[in-house]
Amino acid sequence: MTVITIGKAQDNDYIIDHPQVSRHHARLVSGEQDCWFLEDLESSNGTFVNGAQIARKRVTPTDDIRLGKEYQLDFLAVLKSKNDYSTEFKALKKVYDDYTREKVRIQSSNQFKTRLFQSLPFALPGIIGLIISVTGDSNQGWVIGSLLLTVLAPVGGIYLGARQSAKIPQQLQDLTNQFKIDYVCPKCGTFLGDIPWESLRNKKHCLVSSCQAKWVEE
Ligand SMILES: [Zn+2]
Repeated sequence: MTVITIGKAQDNDYIIDHPQVSRHHARLVSGEQDCWFLEDLESSNGTFVNGAQIARKRVTPTDDIRLGKEYQLDFLAVLKSKNDYSTEFKALKKVYDDYTREKVRIQSSNQFKTRLFQSLPFALPGIIGLIISVTGDSNQGWVIGSLLLTVLAPVGGIYLGARQSAKIPQQLQDLTNQFKIDYVCPKCGTFLGDIPWESLRNKKHCLVSSCQAKWVEE
């Protein structure tokens, strides 16, 4: 269980110098499954969540929290005073999932197009041959055209297929570059590598020695 005390006095974890904030105004207490409870410590001007005065209430980062009626409390900033970055860390799960899904999508769609470009031309002379046999038109132009296609179409197909597969590295490069910007420790900004989010969660905190941000509420 983590307790973060909030108020004007210097012995608080999160110190606020504001006329409406009491010396020991309120505290945040961690509950089960990453939730937080805000408790008023019999402050002079009261503690408010979304406009209603509270004694104890579960709070989330989207709540409007006020100490007295004027001072708006920055919930995430309070957590950071204890080096707690669990809210931002949780959001990284989506970043990792999106990255792996997009990578697979790019690779498989390119493989499909590459194969299509390479195999389609081989079918063309057969189709022409079929047309000739059905129409019974043995015009020489058709025959020569069909022979030319037999030679040229596969060459074109191989060219297009090669060009398509050359697009993969660029698309993957763009994806990886963005991933390196987004998949970083929320405190120190260090790239977390191509490591699944679940594995990082098991580490619980940043491995950069000067950072040590807590990724998981303990
Ligand atoms: Zn860090």
